[in-house]
Amino acid sequence: MSSAHTSLGLPQFAYTKGLHDLGNGGYAYLQPDGGWGWSNAGLIVDGAEALLVDTLFDVPLTREMLDAMRAAEPKAANNIHTLVNTHHNGDHCNGNECCEGAEIIAHKLAAEAMLKEPPALLAGFLDMAPDLGDLGDFITKSFGAFDFKGVTQTFPTTTFETELTRKVGDKQVHLTHVGPAHSPGDIIAHVPSDKTVYTGDILFIEGHPIMWEGPVQNWIDACNAIMAMDVETVVPGHGPITDKRGVKAVQDYLVYTRDEAKKRYDAGLSAMEACRDINFSDYDSWGDGERIIINVTTLYREFSGDEAEPDIPTLFGQMAELAKDRS
Ligand SMILES: [Zn+2]
Repeated sequence: MSSAHTSLGLPQFAYTKGLHDLGNGGYAYLQPDGGWGWSNAGLIVDGAEALLVDTLFDVPLTREMLDAMRAAEPKAANNIHTLVNTHHNGDHCNGNECCEGAEIIAHKLAAEAMLKEPPALLAGFLDMAPDLGDLGDFITKSFGAFDFKGVTQTFPTTTFETELTRKVGDKQVHLTHVGPAHSPGDIIAHVPSDKTVYTGDILFIEGHPIMWEGPVQNWIDACNAIMAMDVETVVPGHGPITDKRGVKAVQDYLVYTRDEAKKRYDAGLSAMEACRDINFSDYDSWGDGERIIINVTTLYREFSGDEAEPDIPTLFGQMAELAKDRS
């Protein structure tokens, strides 16, 4: 039986909205169902010090999360001195303004990408949605729950290129660039003393991952790097808390998608034709299946050596089509 059929969440951590105590001062904040924009975040505490891994898609959601963190760790979470953004997508950094005075750390490429993806972009799409037919319906369904107009985009204050270590009390937090994969500046945060890693969107658990960037081999390698770590608890960017089984499932998905897309690329199928032809039935239980068009399109660009930027409006139109096929 493929791992896609078994639950990848750890039974001791229910997949419910809110703050989950991982023990030893480690926390995960989860937002089921993990679909478009419903991201996870993390808090790493030692004594009176705290480091936050990611904010959420808008200010009210981030404030609600910070309230829960302050209730659990009044001393440390009232004084978050370091915020790490795992990458540039708004569901991981739009709430940055809520951590006033904190050092904000991200990868150099993530900081650059944030400039090209202001919250006003999605706000504008949402405003146009009523006139856009199926595409508009898809955009409203995916992003309509969030308040982008209330976001003051707040950028990293510290960037790095390969690795960076920060101390939280006596704990070490190792930040490592593993991208470009999901996005150009993907980083993971490893806390060796807690045997925990916060992976950002290198892991979508029980949802289709999105490969905006690639190359796919970087992502496969990132999964290997996580599996080689001495960790027991893996907090993904979306979905339930998992362990190395979840990492392996994502890696298997990437290898399968790459191999199946390559056969159809070689046979001359278009990316849309390939998406309709590849058998993803092993992943029927995973959410947001329309994302396969992003993954196949990114893989096709990789196969052909095309270095053009992805055409986001076209991809969203194709996702709306695939989502409609499936409904
Ligand atoms: Zn995300």
